[in-house]
Order: sequence, then structure tokens, then C-alpha cells
Amino acid sequence: MRPALQIDVHTCQTCATCQARLVCKIRAIVQYERGDLPAIDMGRCRGCMICISACPYGAVQKTERALQPLLPR
Ligand code: SF4
Ligand code: SF4
Repeated sequence: MRPALQIDVHTCQTCATCQARLVCKIRAIVQYERGDLPAIDMGRCRGCMICISACPYGAVQKTERALQPLLPR
């Protein structure tokens, strides 16, 4: 299972133009207004990880959350 990604709110510099968003060709990263905190739509994300290296501040990070399988009750 591929990891989920998140944008770390403490690291993100809320750039006027998010470089991570620019490299995501399927537009899984959204930034509604210039300077807004971007968000990753994991429903669209294909897991290519290009955005991780595109962010000059290292704000796009892998998270272990998606590795936790949903357990039956
Ligand atoms: S994720 Fe990176 S490139 Fe995008 S706004 Fe935040 S710091 Fe800037
Ligand atoms: S991992 Fe790839 S598809 Fe997912 S948000 Fe980053 S650039 Fe887009």
C-alpha cells in the first residue's frame, strides 16, 4: 500500500505559487488562492512522489496514516 502524503502546516511557507502543486500533472494538489495552505487530494493522488522533491521547504511529507488498514469491527 502506498503511503499517504500531507502538507505539514508548520513547515509550509504558503508560497504565493505552490511548486508542489505545479508539478502535479493530475492536479491532486489544490491551492484555492495564492498564498493559501495547499492540500493534497489523496483520492486523486497517484503516488508518484514528484511533489516531495518539488517543494523547496520539504513541506510535502509522507505519513504513515494510510498504512493502517481498516480493521473489521
Ligand atoms: S507545499 Fe512547499 S511549495 Fe507548496 S506552498 Fe508549501 S512550502 Fe510552498
Ligand atoms: S504524489 Fe504525484 S500525484 Fe500525488 S500529489 Fe504528489 S505529484 Fe501529485
